[in-house]
Amino acid sequence: MPEMVILDYREGIPIILAEPRPDFLGGWRFWCRYCKRWHLHGRTLGHRVSHCTVPDSPLNRTGYILALASDAGGEKKVEAVADASE
Ligand SMILES: [Zn+2]
Repeated sequence: MPEMVILDYREGIPIILAEPRPDFLGGWRFWCRYCKRWHLHGRTLGHRVSHCTVPDSPLNRTGYILALASDAGGEKKVEAVADASE
Protein backbone atom coordinates (compact mmCIF):
# COMPACT_ATOMS: atom_id res chain seq x y z
CA MET A 1 0.00 0.00 0.00
CA PRO A 2 1.47 3.37 -0.94
CA GLU A 3 1.85 6.00 1.71
CA MET A 4 0.77 9.62 1.76
CA VAL A 5 3.69 11.78 2.85
CA ILE A 6 3.14 15.29 4.15
CA LEU A 7 6.47 17.09 3.94
CA ASP A 8 5.45 20.25 5.73
CA TYR A 9 2.70 22.81 6.10
CA ARG A 10 2.60 26.32 4.70
CA GLU A 11 -0.01 28.56 6.28
CA GLY A 12 -2.01 25.46 7.19
CA ILE A 13 -1.84 23.95 3.72
CA PRO A 14 -0.18 20.55 3.58
CA ILE A 15 2.77 20.08 1.25
CA ILE A 16 2.34 16.57 -0.12
CA LEU A 17 4.99 14.42 -1.71
CA ALA A 18 4.09 13.71 -5.34
CA GLU A 19 5.50 11.22 -7.80
CA PRO A 20 5.43 11.07 -11.61
CA ARG A 21 2.32 9.48 -13.12
CA PRO A 22 3.04 6.36 -15.14
CA ASP A 23 -0.01 7.02 -17.34
CA PHE A 24 0.48 10.71 -18.12
CA LEU A 25 3.79 12.21 -19.13
CA GLY A 26 4.60 15.22 -17.01
CA GLY A 27 1.73 14.59 -14.58
CA TRP A 28 1.87 13.91 -10.85
CA ARG A 29 0.06 11.72 -8.38
CA PHE A 30 0.01 10.83 -4.72
CA TRP A 31 -1.81 8.19 -2.71
CA CYS A 32 -4.57 9.72 -0.58
CA ARG A 33 -5.04 8.20 2.84
CA TYR A 34 -8.57 9.60 3.07
CA CYS A 35 -10.25 8.31 -0.09
CA LYS A 36 -7.67 5.54 -0.54
CA ARG A 37 -7.16 6.38 -4.18
CA TRP A 38 -4.50 8.06 -6.27
CA HIS A 39 -5.08 11.77 -6.66
CA LEU A 40 -4.09 12.46 -10.25
CA HIS A 41 -2.91 15.88 -11.32
CA GLY A 42 -1.53 17.52 -14.43
CA ARG A 43 1.84 19.07 -14.97
CA THR A 44 1.56 21.88 -12.46
CA LEU A 45 3.13 21.50 -9.05
CA GLY A 46 2.38 23.93 -6.25
CA HIS A 47 -1.02 24.71 -4.71
CA ARG A 48 -3.82 22.62 -6.16
CA VAL A 49 -7.53 22.22 -5.54
CA SER A 50 -8.22 18.95 -3.74
CA HIS A 51 -9.40 16.00 -5.79
CA CYS A 52 -10.57 14.15 -2.70
CA THR A 53 -13.85 12.29 -3.05
CA VAL A 54 -14.36 11.98 0.71
CA PRO A 55 -16.67 14.87 1.69
CA ASP A 56 -15.13 15.48 5.13
CA SER A 57 -11.55 15.04 3.98
CA PRO A 58 -9.37 17.74 5.55
CA LEU A 59 -7.74 18.15 2.15
CA ASN A 60 -10.92 19.65 0.75
CA ARG A 61 -10.77 22.57 3.18
CA THR A 62 -7.32 23.77 2.21
CA GLY A 63 -6.33 22.06 -1.00
CA TYR A 64 -2.69 21.07 -0.98
CA ILE A 65 0.70 21.86 -2.37
CA LEU A 66 2.30 19.21 -4.56
CA ALA A 67 6.03 18.86 -4.23
CA LEU A 68 8.72 16.39 -5.22
CA ALA A 69 11.06 14.35 -3.07
CA SER A 70 13.94 16.62 -4.02
CA ASP A 71 12.05 19.49 -2.40
CA ALA A 72 11.84 17.85 1.00
CA GLY A 73 14.84 19.81 2.20
CA GLY A 74 13.20 23.18 2.51
CA GLU A 75 10.36 25.48 1.66
CA LYS A 76 12.54 27.61 -0.60
CA LYS A 77 13.05 24.74 -3.01
CA VAL A 78 9.33 23.93 -3.05
CA GLU A 79 8.66 27.54 -4.01
CA ALA A 80 11.19 27.34 -6.81
CA VAL A 81 9.52 24.27 -8.30
CA ALA A 82 6.10 25.89 -8.13
CA ASP A 83 7.36 28.98 -9.94
CA ALA A 84 9.17 27.06 -12.64
CA SER A 85 6.04 25.14 -13.61
CA GLU A 86 4.02 28.17 -14.66
ZN1 LIG B 1 -8.48 11.81 -1.40
